[in-house]
Amino acid sequence: MTTAALIVAAGRGSRAGGDTPKQYLSLHGVPVLRHALAPFLAHRGIDHVVVVIAAADRDLYAARIPAEAKLMAPVDGAATRQGSVRNGLRALAELGPSRVLIHDAARPFVTAAIIDRVLEALEAHPGAIAAVPLADTLKRAGAGGDIAATLDRTGLWRAQTPQGFHFPDILKAHEDAHAAGRTDFTDDAAIAEWAGLRVALVHGSEANRKITTAEDLIQAQAGQSIMQDVRTGGGFDVHRFTTGDHVWLCGVKVPHTHALEGHSDADVALHALTDALLGTIGAGDIGEHFSNKDPRWRGAPSHIFLSEAARLVAARGGRIANADVTILCEAPAISPHRTAMRRRIAEILGIALDRVAVKATTTEGLGFTGRREGIVALASATVVLPAEGG
Ligand code: MG
Repeated sequence: MTTAALIVAAGRGSRAGGDTPKQYLSLHGVPVLRHALAPFLAHRGIDHVVVVIAAADRDLYAARIPAEAKLMAPVDGAATRQGSVRNGLRALAELGPSRVLIHDAARPFVTAAIIDRVLEALEAHPGAIAAVPLADTLKRAGAGGDIAATLDRTGLWRAQTPQGFHFPDILKAHEDAHAAGRTDFTDDAAIAEWAGLRVALVHGSEANRKITTAEDLIQAQAGQSIMQDVRTGGGFDVHRFTTGDHVWLCGVKVPHTHALEGHSDADVALHALTDALLGTIGAGDIGEHFSNKDPRWRGAPSHIFLSEAARLVAARGGRIANADVTILCEAPAISPHRTAMRRRIAEILGIALDRVAVKATTTEGLGFTGRREGIVALASATVVLPAEGG
């Protein structure tokens, strides 16, 4: 079973300002369309992604959207959104996907979690759309702008995208609507309903809003940090010296007059960082996940622990913004290994090198680190989780 995503980016609306259609405007330095595409390109359940664009925007598209394996060549749109989607569906028909998710390029805050919910609902329904229950009270305006009536909002939802369908069903519905001369549908669910398909509502998110006006874009620029859930965690660890000829620090083997004692490889720095990451999602500590009584972890390389913490963050839809480690010891000297250590941590966490810091200090001969009895490591990490409203 294959699943395609169809991103509708053919609108020429420039209400968001200037001559450039809003989907190509920059949001945090990246075109709105690229934000909207990214979760589909990254999603393991999506096999193909096609973008429908205005023919006039071909150069803009080529300049702003890098090629990727999953991403098909863009398809030319039509005068209406409905026509553009039909063109996209026809282009996908050659691949014969079993399901398709249709998404508006002007919704850049779609998340993997929303995509998951739509895909899951498609197991039991021919159609499923992201939507949010209506929270505001609805008023009907009368003459002169006075309230004529208060409407019952019970059971009312605001439709969003992605809207997912079994592919043959929605292709046929679109072709039938076209043949019947119907051009007044405002979303694909309405076409599916018209064709008699059952369409499920699944929770989208208040954050999954549409960018239509310049004000929306400004709010999105300013508000994204509010809509995101930024968290910081701290970690601390100590290991004592024992006999040996090397220590492991930040996943790097460092020759030394002693080794560090521990159940695993005793990489005190990776242990502190693992705790910092676990701290960001309230997921306990390293000992809870990897007991020092468990023979599986005897002599284990500590990157296993850090990878697991990173996996738990990623499973929450989180991204690691930075990792910062401080090592306290008289010896060995850290600075000759600092770059290798940063590289190794960046590699384990799958983040850029400039998001990783490794620092070191002595304690001026004071205390147990000063007496060269062991090494202390402190760490902090910041992660950004999607805010799931609605
Ligand atoms: Mg430890």
